[in-house]
Amino acid sequence: KDDIKGFFRRNAFVIFTVAAVIIGIGLGFALRPYKMTYREVKYFSFPGELLMRMLQMLVLPLLVSSLITGIAALDSRASGKMGMRAVVYYMTTTVIAVFIGIVMVLIIHPGKGSKDEFKNQQKIEQVSPADAFLDLIRNMFPPNIVQACTQQFKTQYGKRVVHVKMTVNDTLFVLNGTQGQHIMREEVIPIPGQVNGVNALGLVVFSICFGLIIGSMKEQGKPLKDFFVCLNEAIMRLVAIIMWCHSLGIVSLNLTWDLFCIRYAPVGILFLIAGKIVEMDDITETGGQLGMYTITVIIGLSIHAFLVLPTLYFVITRKNPFVFICGLLQALITALGTSSSSATLPITFKCLEENNGIDKRVTRFVLPVGATINMDGTALYEAIAALFIAQVNNMDMNFGQILTISITATAASIGAAGIPQAGLVTMVIVLTSVGLPTDDITLIIAVDWFLDRLRTTTNVLGDSIGTGIVEYLSRHELQSKDAEMGNSVVEE
Ligand code: ASP
Repeated sequence: KDDIKGFFRRNAFVIFTVAAVIIGIGLGFALRPYKMTYREVKYFSFPGELLMRMLQMLVLPLLVSSLITGIAALDSRASGKMGMRAVVYYMTTTVIAVFIGIVMVLIIHPGKGSKDEFKNQQKIEQVSPADAFLDLIRNMFPPNIVQACTQQFKTQYGKRVVHVKMTVNDTLFVLNGTQGQHIMREEVIPIPGQVNGVNALGLVVFSICFGLIIGSMKEQGKPLKDFFVCLNEAIMRLVAIIMWCHSLGIVSLNLTWDLFCIRYAPVGILFLIAGKIVEMDDITETGGQLGMYTITVIIGLSIHAFLVLPTLYFVITRKNPFVFICGLLQALITALGTSSSSATLPITFKCLEENNGIDKRVTRFVLPVGATINMDGTALYEAIAALFIAQVNNMDMNFGQILTISITATAASIGAAGIPQAGLVTMVIVLTSVGLPTDDITLIIAVDWFLDRLRTTTNVLGDSIGTGIVEYLSRHELQSKDAEMGNSVVEE
């Protein structure tokens, strides 16, 4: 009996969260026949929206304070090596993801047939991959760091600019004022932007430099270092309150108390999922080419998430990847529920540190960078989506164009924010680089809310496995740093 109780206690959060997903799906489908109005759906999903807001509220201070404390805790040589390993991992896995995407879409050919079911589009001006890269680098250096915390990161691909405005609860809104999932072709004007306006890429670059400097200042830098360590700890405690009261000692063996003490994350996830199912377009409309496209993306993501990443983890660390993945379940389900790798970041931290025992000096440095620039799922999806649109338009892509798609899909995944449907917005770069009509993004919007959840989960998995691999590869530096600290304590 104790064993069962112990099992429930240890895995209560995962059990609650999985139950929330199942109940959410059931409730969503049960309520669909009632054809709720847009307003009613928004009221209904309100608890989910609150969860998103709470998590997003923590992202900015968490990102900055973790990076600064993570880097300041290491010397510049150790953080340099660790950084290099992380970047090599990010680039390798992203390129593999794009490759899988391209192979899948070329084999399955989901866009076969004519474009009759879609309306004709006008051709648009082409933008070179160089423009995309310059934009990416531009965003790494925000001219105003305060503004970077509050303002959207701007990109202008060539002269044609697209305005997509997004909300926190993963609905795509567009300028013409109509709510919902449709981009009105004539009225798409200004810029792709980030929701909740944080230029994460710029902040990551700034925080890394800041952490390095504070770390090198020794005694002089101590007050600032202590400040960020304290800030980081405080934010992590807030995370614990939102997701689980474990670290505050509120969890007890007593089941009635457990039930009494509401776990907010599962509740939020339940309503996020149910709300989305209630408002989604009719599934029967998603047949034909779009159905094949969805299947192609799912197969590609599955190969990457269940085969490539675990194999890489096993080959490098010789540890069981599936045990590692089990420890991440809470984070993966949260990614599925929120469609946002940034919003999931606080929970990914907890899973890696508490369930998988990853060294905090590694998670706090590597994870925020990964959540910002490493998006394997997004890269894979962008490559598939671009080639799907080419197939639908009966445009044959030559090798050079496919290569351009691979490069720009990589750039677009780095530039995409970790927020719902950001990948859809940065896809403008991929399409324009090979002269595909950007308006054709509308073709895939109907299924994007769903694919977004899957690619976000893959993104979070990629970041987490990367953190595990970097920790393993950096074990010698970490041990020598520990020994150094031990010595200095003895000397004191
Ligand atoms: N929603 C994804 C994420 O947060 C980004 C994307 O739209 O591909 O990781």
